[in-house]
This record gives sequence, C-alpha cells and structure tokens, in this order.
Amino acid sequence: MKFRLLLALLTLPLAAQTPPNNLFGTKASDAQPAPADGSAPEDPEASVNTVVITPFRLLALPNAKMVRTFQLSKLNRIGSFETTKELQRLYTAFASQRILDGSPVGSSRATGYLTTINYSLLQDLGDQRFLARAAWPAAGPNDALAAGVDTMAVLLLDKPAKVGDSGKLTGMHVGMVAVRLSAEFPPLAGRRLTLRREAFLECATLEDSPGGLQRFAEAIVAGVELTVLTHEPISCKTCGGLGFTREPQKGQLVDKRNPCAECASTGKVSIAIETKFVP
Ligand SMILES: [Zn+2]
Repeated sequence: MKFRLLLALLTLPLAAQTPPNNLFGTKASDAQPAPADGSAPEDPEASVNTVVITPFRLLALPNAKMVRTFQLSKLNRIGSFETTKELQRLYTAFASQRILDGSPVGSSRATGYLTTINYSLLQDLGDQRFLARAAWPAAGPNDALAAGVDTMAVLLLDKPAKVGDSGKLTGMHVGMVAVRLSAEFPPLAGRRLTLRREAFLECATLEDSPGGLQRFAEAIVAGVELTVLTHEPISCKTCGGLGFTREPQKGQLVDKRNPCAECASTGKVSIAIETKFVP
C-alpha cells in the first residue's frame, strides 16, 4: 500500500521543468504565483483546481566506498572483527535503515533518510498526501538531509487525515517535489502556485530489540542476503593517520608540520562501508 502511494507520488512524468532561478525556494514567500491572466503557456490548467506533483530533485544516498563481509560463524573468534558488540552495533544501524512492509523478509531497505517529523496539516493534496508545516532534525552522514524548522513539506501519510491535524511521525525522505496547486491556506489562499518542497513518506522502522536481532540472525542463517551501510573511520591516506604532513625546511633539521586538511588533523576520515552478512 505504502509503496503504491509512493509510486503515485513519484512516478509522475518529469514534465514541469522550471526556470533555474526558482529552484531552491524554501519559504512560502518564495512561491511563484501564476500570471494573473492565467495564460501561462507552460500551464494550460492554470485555472483548474488540480494538484500536480512532480519529482524535482531526487535524493541520492551515499554509495559504499568499500564492501566487507560479516560472517556469523566467526562470531567472537579470537582476532575476528565479528564480535557480539559489533553485531549489535551493526544491527542497530540496520534496523534504523529498514522500513516495515509486506515483503517476505518483513522489511525493506529505506531508500531515503529517516527522520522524526512534527507536523501540522495545511492542505489536503489527495491520496493521503498533504502539504504540512513541519519540523524535523537533520539526518544522514554529515547531515545530508538538513533539518527543517517550521518548514512546509509534502507528507504522504499512512492513514487518512484531515487539514488541521497535527502529530509526529517517522518519515522517509524521498527527495524534493514540485507541487502545483491552488493554495487553501493563508496568506496564499486562492492563488495558483508551484511550491518545491521536501517530501516524506510515513513509515515504521524495524524494531531494535533482542527479538529483532534474533530474527535478523535467523534470516542470515536461512540464507537471506542482508546488508547495512555505515560510515566508519579509517586512517587518513593523505597524512598516514598522523593528522599532519611534513614540509622540509631549507637549512633546518626539523620539518615543518602542516595540519592535514583532508582529515581536519584528526588522522581519520569517515567512509561509507557496506557490510554483507553471511552465515
Ligand atoms: Zn589526514
């Protein structure tokens, strides 16, 4: 059900291309009203009270820079990285990246960052899609999804709701969409305009519990292919993990030490690693 609605939200044709100067509007005041005569050639439906949602900027999850294997049968063997503690840590990350659905495994990999959203519904866009005033904390490595503070967003809800409802949900970011609508909220009420807003799909994540971890391990043993993407610190190649680089000084015995910009002098850089789990 959720995925059908997600498709309804996102598989519409990429028809409504917009001038670049309108790309990154983030406030209601940035909204572009339709020409007063309603004769804009790119929008023959200007006077019709329809809602058109088109993908505007798809999100991109980080690609794994390295792939490694976590072998359950090596668990807690001396010298192996497969420890109970590491398994728990990776499972916690795994659970936070999975959304519950009707698939045989019971969950699927989230295709966007998950965050908690406080919202108040402003306008019903049909098919359980709403324009909402919303706030959410940043999510993803390096805050790839910026926090929203009293920001308008498009929400695709799990259950029917009505304008004025407010609440809290777990949302999966599905990118930015362009919404063409006739506004029904002040101060824009009655105006035909296009808003570009972050869109979220309401979802439930996998439970991070001992039982969940047990089922996770059983699925791996049964041969289900499961992976998790995490960001792990590795030694900085530029400075060899020292946090600085050496610069020989003419006539001096001691090299000058320059702080390493690559790792901000920490000696470590964070890279995306995909861990595959095998029996
Ligand atoms: Zn470095």
